[in-house]
Amino acid sequence: MGPEVQKFEEEIKDYINTDLNVVCVNTGTSALHLALHSLDIKEGDEVLVPSLTYVASYQAISATGATPISCDIEPHTGFIDLKDAEKRITNKTKAIMPVHYASHSSSIPEVYELAKKYNLRVVEDAAHSFGCLREGKIIGQEGDIICFSFDGIKNITSGEGGAILTADEEVLTRAKDGRLLGVEKDSDNRYRRERSWNFNVSRQGFRYHMSDLFAAIGREQLKRCDELFKRRKAHLKQYITELQNLAEIETLELDYDNLVPHIFIIKATKRRDELFEFLKTKGVQVGLHYAPNHLLNKFKTDYSLPVTESLSKEIITLPLHPDLTSDDITYVTDAIKEFLSND
Ligand SMILES: *Cc1c(COP(=O)(O)O)cnc(C)c1O
Repeated sequence: MGPEVQKFEEEIKDYINTDLNVVCVNTGTSALHLALHSLDIKEGDEVLVPSLTYVASYQAISATGATPISCDIEPHTGFIDLKDAEKRITNKTKAIMPVHYASHSSSIPEVYELAKKYNLRVVEDAAHSFGCLREGKIIGQEGDIICFSFDGIKNITSGEGGAILTADEEVLTRAKDGRLLGVEKDSDNRYRRERSWNFNVSRQGFRYHMSDLFAAIGREQLKRCDELFKRRKAHLKQYITELQNLAEIETLELDYDNLVPHIFIIKATKRRDELFEFLKTKGVQVGLHYAPNHLLNKFKTDYSLPVTESLSKEIITLPLHPDLTSDDITYVTDAIKEFLSND
């Protein structure tokens, strides 16, 4: 870690045009974990999180010793259902981790209202939404703590990487030290290609810093982001147009005009598993975002989450990345139409 990381952090801040400060780390999962750790969230605490997310959100919470409290989702967006979340608040609840599922985050203002009412911290898992807009503002411009991922498949990549954005000075200092094994003020030395030899450590730290090598990749990606985002948005638009009015196929009701899609999800309301297998035989790399976390051994709940359980049986993720061509998208939608015609 050195000056490239500092420059990448400054350039992210400029791009988002935010007063929040940026701390880059080695993965999005570390960003979430270090953010929670910096809030002093620990064993005995509870963090509200939607079950329909990557297991990274859950492992980041449980890594602090805290318990992830699985919440249901809104049926048409996959975003955390705040009524369900409110029911699960106890005197152990310290934070809520809304996930910008499929890049959509329209209800974030309501998350902050709930957090205010119950004195909770908000750690946004914004791994899907780098570059997206909400009410005319780029995600990360405001909020308590926002975490991004720059892994290989996200909207921009640094190879591997993540970032924490916050205005909270204490969290900022703890995150900057915490990524360098807790070595106090080491970030500023690293930025100057120096190191601390006579240092102090007061808190648990981790080896979570971003390397200069990865920051250099991230900086190049950021320069290309307009072009990369344009292609992702065009693919999304084409999918939506070509999949309109098909029996058995629905799309989520997301703020499509304002988002840079990380993934594109369809709902196959009748024969999901068959369609999934059919697309695979056609060479289409489909995915499933996500298998509900509250059904996994480690995070199993003694209650059910009906909306999550039913939506997760209908969703299929179609290929979406900047290197696809318009013909590729048509190939995928034609394959879906072929399947539907073989009723
Ligand atoms: C990718 C992702 C993460 C974790 O990011 P990594 O950089 O892969 O560690 C966390 N949450 C969600 C929703 C993600 O999609």
